[in-house]
Formats: sequence, C-alpha cells, structure tokens
Amino acid sequence: MTSMTLLFWIVVAISLQLLLWLGISFWRHWLAYMALKNRMTDVNPTLDNSSLTARANASGWHGYRTFRVARKEMEDKAESVCSFYLVPEDGHPLEPYYPGQYLTFQLMLPNSDGEMETVTRCYSLSDAPHPNHYRISVKRVVAPPDSAHPAGRVSNHFHNHIHPGSTLQLRAPGGHFYLQGQPHPVVLIAGGIGITPMLAMLNGALATPSDHEIWLFYGVRNSNELIQTTQLKALAAAHPRLQLHLCFSHPLADDLLGRDYHHKGRIDLPLLRLELPLKPFHFYVCGPSAMMESIVDGLEKWGVSQAHIHFEAFGPATVKRHPITPAITDPIEITFAKTGVSIPWQTSAATLLEFAEAQGIKVNSGCRSGSCGSCQTTIISGEINYLHQPDYDPQPGSCLLCCATPKTNLTLEA
Ligand SMILES: Cc1cc2nc3c(=O)[nH]c(=O)nc-3n(C[C@H](O)[C@H](O)[C@H](O)COP(=O)(O)OP(=O)(O)OC[C@H]3O[C@@H](n4cnc5c(N)ncnc54)[C@H](O)[C@@H]3O)c2cc1C
Repeated sequence: MTSMTLLFWIVVAISLQLLLWLGISFWRHWLAYMALKNRMTDVNPTLDNSSLTARANASGWHGYRTFRVARKEMEDKAESVCSFYLVPEDGHPLEPYYPGQYLTFQLMLPNSDGEMETVTRCYSLSDAPHPNHYRISVKRVVAPPDSAHPAGRVSNHFHNHIHPGSTLQLRAPGGHFYLQGQPHPVVLIAGGIGITPMLAMLNGALATPSDHEIWLFYGVRNSNELIQTTQLKALAAAHPRLQLHLCFSHPLADDLLGRDYHHKGRIDLPLLRLELPLKPFHFYVCGPSAMMESIVDGLEKWGVSQAHIHFEAFGPATVKRHPITPAITDPIEITFAKTGVSIPWQTSAATLLEFAEAQGIKVNSGCRSGSCGSCQTTIISGEINYLHQPDYDPQPGSCLLCCATPKTNLTLEA
C-alpha cells in the first residue's frame, strides 16, 4: 500500500467517524426536541396554547353580537344559579376561548326613574368550549339584608326575564384568567359562584389526556348551593388525577360528611397545607372578596410565588399584592372637565370611580373590576396608576376609573 492510499483510507475513516458523530448528535437533538414538543402540547391541557392564542387573538368580533338563548337550566337546589346556553343569531361559527374567560353582556334596562339605560355585566363561560353554544351560569343577587339597597339588577333580569328565545348582546370572550401554559399541576379554589370559571377550566383540562394533577376545592354553605355536583363527582370517579374537595361552611342536618362533602368549614390555608402534597402547583382562585384576600395572602406567605397565583374577582374586590401602588405624598388635583369640578384627591378613595361617585359625579360603571370597560374615561391631561392590570383594554388616551388612582394632577373628561 502506498502512502497516498494509506492517507486516503485515513481520511475516509475520519470522515466516516465524523459523519457518524454528526448523525448521533442530530438524532439525540431530534429526540430531545420531540420530547420538548410533546411536553409543550401537554402544557395547556385544553388546546395547543400557541395556536389557541393565535386563534383567540385573531378571534372575536368587534362590538356586540346577537345571541339567542337556546336553553335555560336551574343548577342548584336553592334555585339561585341558572345556566343559559347561547347560540349566535347569525349562525356563524363560535369564536374559541380559553376556559376561564368571560363574556360581556350589554342590556337595556329601566333605571329607578323608569328611563331605559345601558347596563353592562360580565359572566364567565362555565363550560369548556363547545362547537354549538356558549354557557354561562348566573347567580341571582338578592337584596342585602337590613339594607335599603335593591336586589341585583342584571342577575334578577336574567332569572326573571331571559328565557329560551330571548336575544342578548355579547362582546367576544375575553379576560386573562385561564390555565397558563406551564407544565405544572394545578389547584382550583372556588367559593360559591366563583366555581363558574373553574368548571370551564376543569372540563377543558380533563378533556385532554395528561397526567397533571388537578385539585378542586369548592366551598359553599351547604348542599343547597352546590352546582354541577353530579357531574363533578362523576369526573372525580372517572379521572384519578382529579382530587375533588367539597367544603361546607354550614352543612344542613342531612348533609353527611364523607358522603356529601369532604370538609366542614371554609377553604383556608391550613386545609390546603394539610391536603396538598409539596409540588410546584399553580393556584387559581375565584370567590368572595374575603376568601380571595385571605387565600392569596396565605399562599404568598406560604412561599408560593406570585407567578403561580392567579385570581379573578367578580366585583370590586381587589386583592392587595406587594408591592402596592406607591403612596402619594404631594397633593393631587383631580378635575372633572365636563362637570366643571376640581377637587384634591383623597387617598381614602380606593379608586377614581369611587372618588367621582363620592363627589356626586355621574360615571358609568359595570363590573368595577376592570373587566367590562363601562367606566372608560378620556384622560385630558395627567397620568394614572392601575391597582391591577385591567382585563379590558382601554382606548389610547383613556383609562378605566374602577381600577385606577391618580399618579399626577389629572383632568378627566367626565
Ligand atoms: C369577570 C367577571 C366574571 C363574572 N362571572 C360571573 C358568573 O359566572 N356568574 C355570576 O353570577 N356572576 C358573575 N360575575 C358577576 C356579575 O358580573 C354581576 O356583577 C352580578 O351578577 C351582579 O350584578 P347585578 O346587576 O345583578 O347586581 P347589581 O345591581 O350590580 O348589584 C350588586 C350588589 O350591589 C347592591 N347595591 C345596589 N345598589 C347599591 C347602592 N346604591 N349602594 C350599594 N350597594 C348597592 C345590590 O343590592 C347587590 O347586592 C362576574 C363578574 C366579573 C367581573
């Protein structure tokens, strides 16, 4: 063999080894990539996150669309929660949504003077996406005892006057309260009617095969107030990864511990710490303000990072998180241009909406939690801070008074 031939075979051998090494490296990267890809599609248990985001972002109709009530069903023994199944009047396909999001309704109702006025309210979609209908579940708000305040306007209107065949004006699904895309087990914590977004999340999550744990803590006074109990118990029996915990604060005489409910008392941190294994859970909380405040605060003190705590208020409840808006030291002047009123800001007012109302300035409002957009007001000059990021995107140059405080002297078009 000549030295040239030897050199040739050495080059061939080295090239083959190089090719083999490149092939093995590529194969390993491919396996890692596929594993990661499979994990990512598993992350949002309901639908592929990126495609749904794209669809949800591109989705939505602008303004209001007419829907017809196809079905109406009472959900609880106390007959205080009623579900409405809504189909689009135009017959076009329904827009997709993330389970946990809500719909915004605009109704024309008479005010106390008998004049018709526009009223806006939000209701969570209470089931996973369905091809033919949206479902919401509305709790009748009764007049507070020992008070002159009337019963809830819109919830009672739904219960008393909205029937199969009625039409409703809806804005497209929206909101940021839905299962986030991380591959983590989740804990859903619902108080009373706060169960509605959780039902959507739960049904959506269980519809997709995955082994992520789901814990649902659902607190009510007693069995009279439970909704979807049969379905929840059937889901828990069918899915070992679902842990269902029903908590009754005031059980009825024939509510049996172990059969009808799992814990006596309210959902609180000691219960969560007792039941939950140590895992990087994401917590989703929705319920009355007192429950939300204590649970969110308790979770933070327990060491759960803020990024793992998600909550939604159905009303003005604002859970205070740290750091809160910086304290205002210099006096700030608020001018309501249309009304022609200029007054110093009082820090006792939680929001600009409360401040305006306390001055007798008429401002539109709906959800009082940054979801419906009713209190959107143009800022003529000055700047505001938000107590929390609103769900509704106000138009440039305007703000939502219900979750804003002033940052500087402010002139509002109100
Ligand atoms: C994102 C989001 C999702 C929601 N999802 C759901 C859901 O799935 N299901 C559901 O049932 N609800 C849900 N809500 C709450 C819903 O939007 C309404 O707030 C609720 O139905 C009450 O509206 P209402 O018009 O019946 O009551 P309102 O007329 O707004 O009255 C509310 C309360 O204020 C009292 N009140 C009335 N006037 C005064 C006054 N002058 N001073 C002081 N108090 C007064 C009333 O007595 C009543 O207790 C959601 C809210 C949000 C923001």
